[in-house]
Amino acid sequence: LWNQVLERLQLQLTRPAFETWIKTATVQELTDNVLVIRAANPFILNHLQKNYLKTIADAVREILGYPIEIQLTAAQGENLAIVGDPDASRFMLDPADSLASDRPKPTKLNPKYTFSRYVVGPTNRMAHAASLAVAESPGREFNPLFLCGGVGLGKTHLMQAIANYRLEIHPNSKIFYVSTEQFTNDLISAIRQDSMQSFREHYRTADVLLVDDIQFIEGKEYTQEEFFHTFNTLHEAGKQVVLASDRPPKRIPSLQDRLISRFSMGLIADIQVPDLETRMAILQKKAEYEHMRLPREVIEYIAANYTSNIRELEGALIRAITYISISGLPMTVENLAPVLNPPMERAAASPESILNAVAETFKVSIEDLKGNSRRREISIARQIGMYLMRQHTDLSLPRIGEEFGGKDHTTVMYSCEKIGQLRQQDPQLSQTLSQLLDRINLDNKS
Ligand code: ADP
Ligand code: MG
Repeated sequence: LWNQVLERLQLQLTRPAFETWIKTATVQELTDNVLVIRAANPFILNHLQKNYLKTIADAVREILGYPIEIQLTAAQGENLAIVGDPDASRFMLDPADSLASDRPKPTKLNPKYTFSRYVVGPTNRMAHAASLAVAESPGREFNPLFLCGGVGLGKTHLMQAIANYRLEIHPNSKIFYVSTEQFTNDLISAIRQDSMQSFREHYRTADVLLVDDIQFIEGKEYTQEEFFHTFNTLHEAGKQVVLASDRPPKRIPSLQDRLISRFSMGLIADIQVPDLETRMAILQKKAEYEHMRLPREVIEYIAANYTSNIRELEGALIRAITYISISGLPMTVENLAPVLNPPMERAAASPESILNAVAETFKVSIEDLKGNSRRREISIARQIGMYLMRQHTDLSLPRIGEEFGGKDHTTVMYSCEKIGQLRQQDPQLSQTLSQLLDRINLDNKS
């Protein structure tokens, strides 16, 4: 089978791609319904996983005439296949899935999302501590636990860490981790198959129910209705509910008031963009797990240039490691230039240079920017300043608030969001922003 797959892919892919990614892989195991492919190393595995899993699965299905599950593993025997990651699990083909079954299926967890792999820093300390507390004694302290923070900041990791932790202590407990999408889909198919009762039995008997990306419940009236009852049943029975969202409950549009109040009943723990040291620690730890030693300058360079999303930070690291392992070049910042070209706009700027540039451009004083005047030309300049500081420095929201004379971090957050939205609609504003950036960059160079 594998030889046939290779023949097929050789025709489909470019030669370098085929030789680097596919030809180096071998078959570890083949049964009636599973093909386990062994990649030469974890980096190749990661790349295969992200880019070729579907291609391979398609080829296998065409040859066999029916789909089987494809699993990837690396030479060190570590199974890196990112199950539980929606992008990955979509391609885990399982013939049994296509058979009608009236019970919702639990999502597989990523075994790597554990507390021990989670790096704690000032911006996620609280969320981490609360998650650990919930994992240790669910239903006790923070119920529900509502994790909120931007994309790629570790919400899913923490949720699955809770689930993995519980299952490790009590392998038979009912720990359900689902995306909101999954919950909705289960609900829809329960309605369609007239199996609401088993849907309810399933979700309402969880010991711990973790629902990810709950912001997607926006606008889904029927899901909100059903989830409300699920929530109440669990909560009354003292069962733990954990939710994650990219924003606080109050800011999820068209979320029913009764859900807003339920979601806010326990603890809302937010996760902010990690500071430079935490980003370096994350890279260090990740590199250790991949059995790589990276020069400090490389760690610093990547950490300094990928500031706002840990997934991107990790992506840059994996690209660097892959590139070095394939090219055979020494691991230096210069050699990595082709794979790590951070967007120029992200070049770090100093808060002073931003304040100066905004003050000059809008003909207002620095005191005005730091003050409380609500005059329109001053408040818009202030908001633009906050936005630029958010985009082009490493400062956290509260620290940016301090730069502007002690404003609350929620004020900063709203300003950033508002300018971010305006920027998309208003060409004039984007032009002003890029002129401001030129000025700031000049200032930082001199
Ligand atoms: P979110 O769900 O908030 O979008 P994820 O939990 O998917 O983010 O995290 C994105 C990636 O970053 C994952 O690979 C995760 O393991 C990693 N990550 C996030 N935060 C941390 C952390 N504090 N320490 C180590 N890895 C982290
Ligand atoms: Mg997530």
